[in-house]
Amino acid sequence: MDEKLIGKAIEVYNANFSSRTWFGRCIFLSWYCDIGTCEFCFRSTVKHKIRHASSAKRSKESILCDAIIGKNLGWRIEFLTGGYRIFSFEDQIEICRLVSEIYGHKIWINLGTVGKDELQKLQPYVEGVCASIECVDPDLHNRICPDKPIEPYSKMLKQAKEMGFKTSCTIVVGLGETHEDFELLAEFISEHELDRITFYALKPIQGTRFTESPLPDEYAWWVAMTRVRFPLLEIMAGLTPKRAEEYAGLLLRAGANGLTKYPAVKRFGSAQAHEVERQIKESGRKFEGSLTELPDVDWDMEVERLGLDEELKEKVKGKLKEYVEGMKRGSV
Ligand code: SF4
Repeated sequence: MDEKLIGKAIEVYNANFSSRTWFGRCIFLSWYCDIGTCEFCFRSTVKHKIRHASSAKRSKESILCDAIIGKNLGWRIEFLTGGYRIFSFEDQIEICRLVSEIYGHKIWINLGTVGKDELQKLQPYVEGVCASIECVDPDLHNRICPDKPIEPYSKMLKQAKEMGFKTSCTIVVGLGETHEDFELLAEFISEHELDRITFYALKPIQGTRFTESPLPDEYAWWVAMTRVRFPLLEIMAGLTPKRAEEYAGLLLRAGANGLTKYPAVKRFGSAQAHEVERQIKESGRKFEGSLTELPDVDWDMEVERLGLDEELKEKVKGKLKEYVEGMKRGSV
């Protein structure tokens, strides 16, 4: 790793942020995506499409469970995502309302391109809008995401900003980008006045042509370069489960504010989750929340206070029990 760059990133980070760090959890509305053609994505594989039909959506109770567990474990919500055109817009608003109520503040969404009228209706519950850009080099983008042009997302980000939302985008490292593309990324961040960026490491998926995640140093280079160029930008960095131990501490030293994209419920309390926490500590950060210890919570009471109708309330309570027991056993 370029130690000089990392040193600079640490210096810039320390000059602008506290030592706090956190885990940002994405809450999925469904596993299906109706674009489904981005070359690197598991949703583009035939196997995935067979398993998750276009009509498949997550139940409301499991979505609400994610939020209740996340809040009580001290995890932030990275964004509510997925389910493009699967839930009706009215349902999406209702889910945003409930999740923001659980957290006690407005949330972020990453729900594809959302128009002005829809943004207006979401505004009471949503503070930030994220666009999944994936990569900024136009040629690479056209090849990798043939049915997800950047332009509509760019328009949405500008519109959302004008309306007073915070904005962000996601970038995947390992798709074939070069270091020269950093200037394009910097331009994109400046042009859209982004408040946050989320980096992910490419996760190789069987059935796609991608076979390798980026080397940790390469991944951290993008984070560190972004930190140095944009001292106040919130940077989130994803851990892929296979390489979480190689990435966690390094990404924080490179200037990430928080970590995301880790199967925190599935791997709750695992040796790997302990190692991630150890690296957080070793990098001088204080972790909000936990990936390893369940707090003592009256889970039924957490549901009671939401004012849900009886049927949904009972379903959420039942689902929560399953989740919590599974987390205790390490088998969700
Ligand atoms: S990257 Fe996003 S838009 Fe593209 S197929 Fe996957 S989920 Fe759908």
